[in-house]
Order: sequence, then structure tokens, then C-alpha cells
Amino acid sequence: MTMITEQVDEKKLASNYRKVVDEIAKACEKSGRKQKDVTLVAVSKRHCLDCVRALAGLGHKDFGESYVQEAMEKMDQAPDLDVRWHFIGGLQSNKAKYVAGNFHLVHSLDSVKLAKELNKKAEALNTVQDVLIQVNLAGEEQKSGISEQELQDFIINVLENKKGLNPKGLMLMPPWDPDPEKTRPYFRQLRELRDRLAGETNLALPELSMGMSNDFIQAIEEGATMVRVGTSIFGERAY
Ligand SMILES: *Cc1c(COP(=O)(O)O)cnc(C)c1O
Repeated sequence: MTMITEQVDEKKLASNYRKVVDEIAKACEKSGRKQKDVTLVAVSKRHCLDCVRALAGLGHKDFGESYVQEAMEKMDQAPDLDVRWHFIGGLQSNKAKYVAGNFHLVHSLDSVKLAKELNKKAEALNTVQDVLIQVNLAGEEQKSGISEQELQDFIINVLENKKGLNPKGLMLMPPWDPDPEKTRPYFRQLRELRDRLAGETNLALPELSMGMSNDFIQAIEEGATMVRVGTSIFGERAY
């Protein structure tokens, strides 16, 4: 995979961005939430570094990437950018060493093995990596994530003795449906699961990363603290 070259239409990008921010504000208002409690993670995977620069130029701070090599290249080429990089994609444990300590937040902690490798690297760097646990609520075979049944054990037995990892909350990739109202029950279920876990463990798990271009409004109404929006801001991706 190589870096992406594309023409950046700054006007279009700015208007897309304003529209998304506006919709977030409306969803917050509708559900009685504060806009500052919802972080927009602009998903820049498979979009060019100039796209990131253009959005950062509008004052945006949080960017999401899914591919280790592409993310590292962007970081290396733009050390001057004052942004927070989020790792949101599937991560093979043999690549954990590149990620730990380099990202503001890893959204996609989805296995015991990955926890072990991220922790090992974070401890070697003498740092603590903030992470979210990806939950597979629908039990979809093809999707990664910790099942609801395994989650409490994962938090108590796998994470509690890993000093290099700081679990901040949960992340969800629900089954795809073109109708976002069909996805809403999963968002609600993740929030309820978090509330239950926070009562049963000694972790607050304040962050809920859920909602993408198609359904971030519903996710916010159900309690998302982070939405991951790519296409609605940057347009279709290059593959
Ligand atoms: C690509 C991706 C997104 C963004 O999806 P859009 O539909 O383009 O908004 C969000 N979350 C994850 C985990 C992704 O891989």
C-alpha cells in the first residue's frame, strides 16, 4: 500500500466538515448532551496527508487511521502537525510494537494476545497506552472484538495486571445496515453494558467510541463520546 495522492478540494472539505460538526451539535442538543463531551475523530485512512493538513488547518485535532504503515508514514512526514492520532482499525499483534506509545488512543483492542503485545511495548517505553476494548455485540464471526460474555473476565483478568495499558472505555462496530435506526439498539446496548461493567469492576470506562458516517447521530443520541467519521468529511476512499 502506498501513500495516496489526490486533489484536495478545500472548499468542499470545509463545507463537509461544517455540516458534520453542525449535525453533531444538533444531536447533542436533541439528547441534552454537551457538545464538548463528544469528540469527532476524522477518519483519514486512505486519504492523503494534504487532506489531514487541510482539516488541521481548520483547527481540527483528532484523526483516525486504520493501517499501521499508512499512519506511520503520515506521522513521519508531518511531525509538525499539532494533532492527536487515533488507531481505529484491526491490529495484528505482531504490529503492536509500532502502535504502542505512538497513538493518542487505540480504539481496537480485541484480543488477549494484542493486549499482551501492546502492554509489552508500552512498558518497554515506560509509558501507558490508553486503549478502548472493541466489543463484538452481535457475535459476528467475521468481525473481531471481545464478546459480551468474555468482557468482564477480559477486564478483570487480562487488563488489571497490565500496567502499560489504561482502559478508557468501549468501542463498537455494529453489523452494517443502511438504516441507522436498525443500528441504534446496538449503541444503546453498548452503553448499558458499560454502565453494568463500571458497577462490577473498579473502572469507570468513560469513553464510548461508536457511530460512523451513516449513523453518528443515532450513536450520539445513545451516548457516544467519540464518533469516527470518514466518508462524510473526506469523501469516498481510494483503495
Ligand atoms: C473506516 C472506519 C470508519 C469510518 O467509516 P465512514 O463510514 O467512512 O465514516 C470508522 N470506524 C472504523 C473502525 C473504520 O475502519
